[in-house]
Amino acid sequence: MNYISTRDPERRGVSAAAAIRSGLAPDGGLYMPERIPVFSAADFAALAPLTYPERAAKILAPYLPDFSAEDLLADARAAYTAEKFGAHPAPVTDLAPGMSMLELFHGPTCAFKDMALQLMPRLFVRALAECGETRQALILVATSGDTGKAALEGFSDLAGVKISVFYPEDGVSRLQKLQMQTQRGENVDVHGIRGNFDDAQSAVKRVFASPDVRDALNRKGVFLSSANSINWGRLVPQIVYYISAYLDLLGGGKIAPGEKIDVVCPTGNFGNIFAALLAKRMGLPVGKLVCASNENHVLTDFFRTGVYDRNRPFFRTMSPSMDILLSSNLERLLFLTLGAEKTARHSASLSRDGRYALDPCDLAKISEEFSGYFTTEDETKETVRTLFARRGILIDPHTAVALHAARQYRRETAAERHTLVVSTASPYKFAGDVLSALTGTPAHDVQDAPAALSLLTKTPVPAPLAALEKREILHTAIIDPDDIEDSVLAFAAE
Ligand SMILES: *Cc1c(COP(=O)(O)O)cnc(C)c1O
Repeated sequence: MNYISTRDPERRGVSAAAAIRSGLAPDGGLYMPERIPVFSAADFAALAPLTYPERAAKILAPYLPDFSAEDLLADARAAYTAEKFGAHPAPVTDLAPGMSMLELFHGPTCAFKDMALQLMPRLFVRALAECGETRQALILVATSGDTGKAALEGFSDLAGVKISVFYPEDGVSRLQKLQMQTQRGENVDVHGIRGNFDDAQSAVKRVFASPDVRDALNRKGVFLSSANSINWGRLVPQIVYYISAYLDLLGGGKIAPGEKIDVVCPTGNFGNIFAALLAKRMGLPVGKLVCASNENHVLTDFFRTGVYDRNRPFFRTMSPSMDILLSSNLERLLFLTLGAEKTARHSASLSRDGRYALDPCDLAKISEEFSGYFTTEDETKETVRTLFARRGILIDPHTAVALHAARQYRRETAAERHTLVVSTASPYKFAGDVLSALTGTPAHDVQDAPAALSLLTKTPVPAPLAALEKREILHTAIIDPDDIEDSVLAFAAE
């Protein structure tokens, strides 16, 4: 199986290992498999009796032919241990009649990024060996909060790799910041950036694109790579939990064999929901993919009008991991539905003008599979409050954005399919806002918030978050986006 750039009409291929090593294609496009493997109903059924790591190994195998079945299974087993994830890494629970919740926050950093970032570093190290790479990899991460910590946790103290993380100083929750500032590991570096996530991401992309940086690093025997969801190795593990959830719904008698489900996903960079599309294209019975946004609803507008326009005010919301105006993985959807030529054209227009517009027939094609909805801040709070009041289920603001979108979608379309709402973070990561939503008092993102939330809801603070307050703060630097380059060069030289 070869991987091709979303911007290359010639469809020149590289191996899976090479795609994972580089992250980004040389033309600035993202890597995609040249075709998507299709599983039969019998193939899916054969996965049902397996454990989560066994399911993962079988689902990843056709995408990653460079890795042996034994290696994939060993990596998946090491990634998804009960010690790190509890009994089931991605359990499906009841939300309401006809609605279930896919819980993806049981990993070591309490957000869904762990599902990919506990496995991806292992694949990455194998990919380096497979490519005969002798230089040291320096992973650069721009994070809206959750990726940074999950990547640090996945890559810390891994041989042959360093990792440098940049987060928007005022754009992450108190616990998210504390998680990153207390990260241990000989090979890690963490910086706050003055600006928002898009500022951090754009600056990191400039460093990636700079030939001067590349040459300077090369002389030191270092090369840059990425753990953001632009890297295929980050995306492919996310397909697994959609298939696993379907099998668990089936096993629990919630749906009948072959019955289609709708998936509602709280979306930022479009990685998670794109993995659901891949599961669908592999043959999983999925109906609509509902893309849920917060007040930064550039994607809602895109799915409704066909115009992607990032020229708009940026809002800081209580679902900061979705405060994004440039959803990188949308490029993969363009590629899959419209081909490389149009993708290259729209991408050029996006970087030049900050916008592009689809032809009406292209929008119609995309609308067959996707709908977009957004949730305001007030609606997010109201959703957190009423779900807890009525059903005793505590959710985080990102999940609330998705649940509210799911309800809008079901009401407007009279949809009757079973709906899977993706839950992406522990409510305790955003304890101040969740507490405020429950009590109606102003949000205080303070040290006592998790304990107060625990007392109020009689639910436990997750152990990895409870342990944070006692840990030493190791990383306090705050820099301007333009200084990322110097910071990268200095860290590489250490
Ligand atoms: C990253 C993140 C999202 C958005 O996921 P994308 O793959 O970027 O669309 C949603 N919720 C939480 C809690 C996240 O950490």
